[in-house]
Amino acid sequence: MQFVLASHNKKKMAEMAAILSGLDIEVVPLPENAPEPEENGATFEENAAIKAKSAADFTGLPAIADDSGLCVDALGGAPGVYSARYCGHHGDDEANNRKLLAEMQAVPAGQRAARFVSAVCFMLPDGRALTVEGVCPGSVAFAPAGENGFGYDPIFIVENLNKTMASLSEDEKNRISHRGRALMDMLMWIKCSNL
Ligand code: IMP
Repeated sequence: MQFVLASHNKKKMAEMAAILSGLDIEVVPLPENAPEPEENGATFEENAAIKAKSAADFTGLPAIADDSGLCVDALGGAPGVYSARYCGHHGDDEANNRKLLAEMQAVPAGQRAARFVSAVCFMLPDGRALTVEGVCPGSVAFAPAGENGFGYDPIFIVENLNKTMASLSEDEKNRISHRGRALMDMLMWIKCSNL
């Protein structure tokens, strides 16, 4: 059976495809002309369901969507669901990172805890759905480091590894990331459920 990956974000798509490769499922990209739904949910789960429904409606295929972001304790959970547009416009990773580092400038080491969160929604064309969440704990760095990944990866220090997410290889990131955890968990639930 084919599954459509409900994202126009090429880096996120590549990560999802890599995590799901080697498993017994066939994933296809979202067609370029698929609509970009308004992500007006209050939670990652709601936004993941909005994206999955839009992709399943458009393609007639079961859809897998990820909605994700960075939640920083010292900022009351921000940027959270606004992670992609924290700087005021959508998808400018460098501006988002600059803003976050500026907001965190006066926050001392030890109080910089943060977590990446990914909600993954699997939705069938008839609307039946399953949503799971994956979390990757860590902290906000004082300066960017590393060249890999995307988004906040250069300024997110992974708990227990003491390196930024952007310093990990693609394979290392996918094994411990919020998205990797959510997708693997979701596959287990699909296998155990009647979907
Ligand atoms: P979405 O596409 O609406 O889910 O927005 C996700 C945003 O959260 C991205 O644009 C990034 O800013 C951030 N984000 C989500 N996952 C990651 C990740 O794995 N690394 C770095 N930033 C991420």
